[in-house]
Amino acid sequence: MNKDNQDNKNLIELDMLISVVVPVYNEKEVIEEFHRRTVAVLKKLSMRFEVVYVNDGSSDESLDILKKLRYDDSSIAIVDLSRNFGKEIALSAGLDHANGDLVVVIDADLQDPPELIPEFIKHWHEGYDIIYGRRVGREGESSIKKLTAFCFYRVMGKLSRIKIPPDTGDFRLLSRRAVEAMKLLKEQHRFMKGLFSWIGYNQKEVLYQREKRFAGKTKWNYWKLWNFALEGITSFTIFPLKIASYLGIATALGAFLYSLIVIYKTLMYGDPVAGYPSLIVFILFLGGVQLLTIGIIGEYVGRIFNETKKRPLYFINGRYDSENYKMNSDTPV
Ligand code: UDP
Ligand code: MG
Repeated sequence: MNKDNQDNKNLIELDMLISVVVPVYNEKEVIEEFHRRTVAVLKKLSMRFEVVYVNDGSSDESLDILKKLRYDDSSIAIVDLSRNFGKEIALSAGLDHANGDLVVVIDADLQDPPELIPEFIKHWHEGYDIIYGRRVGREGESSIKKLTAFCFYRVMGKLSRIKIPPDTGDFRLLSRRAVEAMKLLKEQHRFMKGLFSWIGYNQKEVLYQREKRFAGKTKWNYWKLWNFALEGITSFTIFPLKIASYLGIATALGAFLYSLIVIYKTLMYGDPVAGYPSLIVFILFLGGVQLLTIGIIGEYVGRIFNETKKRPLYFINGRYDSENYKMNSDTPV
């Protein structure tokens, strides 16, 4: 890049604010290190910055640590939710409260390296609205987790019309208009990576090596992952509902053909009393298929139930804005 271009970019950036949104749930071991590394990266940029921590009802000292950090560093904003709502909603709360022209979403555990932010910004200058990190490696994760994640992204890719990039977490940079679009999506069942793809715009991937957690434990377990996968599938495709119809057609056709065989056999050879084993197999099989399809329908009905209540997504216990934003609050962002 020549010098004029660089100067122009710096001039554009001087006027801008970048917000880094961080969901925090029981992360007392990592917050300080995370903040140190992130601020080191942000200070090198030529734009103003704020780091919006969303405390998602932590039961450890995370909130106290955040408040202490904020005492010395006015670039910090804290949104303290009224209880634990889960990462997806914590992220949404963060997006609602981020004031930046650019917004980065990142985990607190340093699995997503903040050092990648300048590269994201570079692509933003090229005209992309969403720049997301795609993992090339997953340090410190079990092979079962890797395998299930692999299968999940492939199945989603096949089932849904929205292309959800594989091996992608929530780590990304969004332009202001992408954030505004995300804010319009008010659904309770929030499969964030799906929603980020759903809003469209120019999207760009950046490959990165996913590190081990810096400290602390993952909040995920296999039951949660399974539900997360269900959430993804039911939020973005109604294909499972169609399974019921296809199974129904296949069974009806099978039953018709089988009845022809039975009629033929009865006419030709009389009707000896037999068929108990086949009868019980059919009854059990059909019972199983019916329960399965009712279950699938139930998954969707449950979600309709939750959506129709139209509850607010979250409540806030307290809020501390960053001074970096306030300083310029007379200029609309
Ligand atoms: N998190 C959250 N609320 C929750 C669970 C997690 O805000 O109920 C945050 C957590 O503090 C971290 C991020 O979401 O910043 C990712 O969580 P984790 O590392 O447990 O997930 P993984 O990286 O294993 O997918
Ligand atoms: Mg993690």
